[in-house]
Amino acid sequence: MKKLIKKIFFLCFLFAIPMFAEEYYEVVVLGGGPGALTSALYLGRFGLRPVVIEGGLPGGLISQSHLVQNWPGEAGISGLQLIEKLHSQAEENGSVFLAEEVIDVDFSKRPYTFTTRDLLHPEKVRKIVASFCIIAMGTRPNRLGVPGEEDYWGKGVANCAVCDGPLYQDKVVAIIGGGDAALLEADYLSEIASKVYIFIRKDSFRSREEQRKKKIVDRPNVEVRYLTTIKEIGGNKDQVTHVIVKNQGKEEKIPLDGIFLAIGATPNSHIFEKKLALDPKGFIQVGRDLQTSVPGVYAIGDIIDPIYKQAISAAGDGAKAAISAHKEWLSIPKKELAKKGGKEPSINRLKVEEVQSLSQLQKIIKESKVPVVADFYASWCAPCKMIAPLFEEKANEVEKSFRFIKVNIDILDNSYHIQSMPTVILFKEGKEVTRKVGTSEISNFLQNLF
Ligand code: NDP
Repeated sequence: MKKLIKKIFFLCFLFAIPMFAEEYYEVVVLGGGPGALTSALYLGRFGLRPVVIEGGLPGGLISQSHLVQNWPGEAGISGLQLIEKLHSQAEENGSVFLAEEVIDVDFSKRPYTFTTRDLLHPEKVRKIVASFCIIAMGTRPNRLGVPGEEDYWGKGVANCAVCDGPLYQDKVVAIIGGGDAALLEADYLSEIASKVYIFIRKDSFRSREEQRKKKIVDRPNVEVRYLTTIKEIGGNKDQVTHVIVKNQGKEEKIPLDGIFLAIGATPNSHIFEKKLALDPKGFIQVGRDLQTSVPGVYAIGDIIDPIYKQAISAAGDGAKAAISAHKEWLSIPKKELAKKGGKEPSINRLKVEEVQSLSQLQKIIKESKVPVVADFYASWCAPCKMIAPLFEEKANEVEKSFRFIKVNIDILDNSYHIQSMPTVILFKEGKEVTRKVGTSEISNFLQNLF
């Protein structure tokens, strides 16, 4: 019997080593925002070569901010530029980045196992093993849950002014919410739109930024409506045309072109339920060293923080958690950790043809012998950057059957009615046949294109 058990152990060992040799990293960082990137930077400098699973919104929510003015040392920088700087610094210091999202974790034995899904090829699922983990998965924007919201999502309803705001030049928009995010959205949109409503369900803003509040509320094209809730969002099937609001029992139909939600966020912690201690609202509970209820697993930034929720506090957390993890790593006999050997992923990407002018675009659509797939993007749009690699990869795969092009919306007039970013349109024989808006719709469409 003892011999049999020994044999089984030996076989397990034999099979386990090649698996770990492929996929083992010292530390897995989950997330791609300022907290994740700062912890990756520190871990890299400690020589721990972290693998960063960036998730569905690389750069996190701050990458959608058009202007960040409270990052120390930067008087004014776009969220995307800030993230690009942090990303390069982490990469130069040894971090490995994967365009994947974590879909499951097993914290029942150490080293821990993380199941991830490739964002470009959702059918590709794999397991990564690590003894340490830093969770920086942030929060996701809340939805209202009123009729019409889902129907008009991407057709006038959005939650990112910096992504879609420029499409509302001289139009009427509404912002829902009275927090700091709503004020930032209003600040940006009131420079573009002809009129900006702010609908607040209470009789006051939640934001305590008095100076910013006064500056925005005083603008002639901004109208704040307190004690106002949203009953329904309506439109003409293609685009939002109005909203029905309720104020002290009285309903009113207000014509408008766009609605931006800024009603707070929920922690992205569902995959940790019953695996880590969470508070009743889903925030991960941590100690002073930012360690969760599982040894070696740390959590940082918005996913632990219902109060401050600042990029800079997430970055501070990132540094602290990396230092705590490194301290623990130094104290553990190394033979207890599985062997190293993670491989950097290599992705071959060809460039997709960039259209230079509106007339060139019209000519391509009219004259192409094969269907044309056009990616309409903007330099300020973070989700567009996310879609770009998938678009390029698909272009390589189907290069003989389709012509893939990318179009910066700066070269357009109104003729293609681009209302949201990113938008991908399929043209056949000179005519639009399919239009997909937003990263998940576009990703599904591209996966199924042969
Ligand atoms: P907040 O939670 O601070 O504010 C959310 C707003 O939306 C509140 O006015 C809330 O109303 C309202 N709201 C929530 N749910 C609904 C609903 N279903 N219908 C209508 N209204 C609703 O979220 P923010 O995203 O604005 O900010 C989150 C955190 O991030 C805050 O700590 C903020 O300070 C910080 N932040 C800081 C920035 C900065 O530049 N310093 C920028 C952006 C965010 P009610 O008050 O009634 O609950």
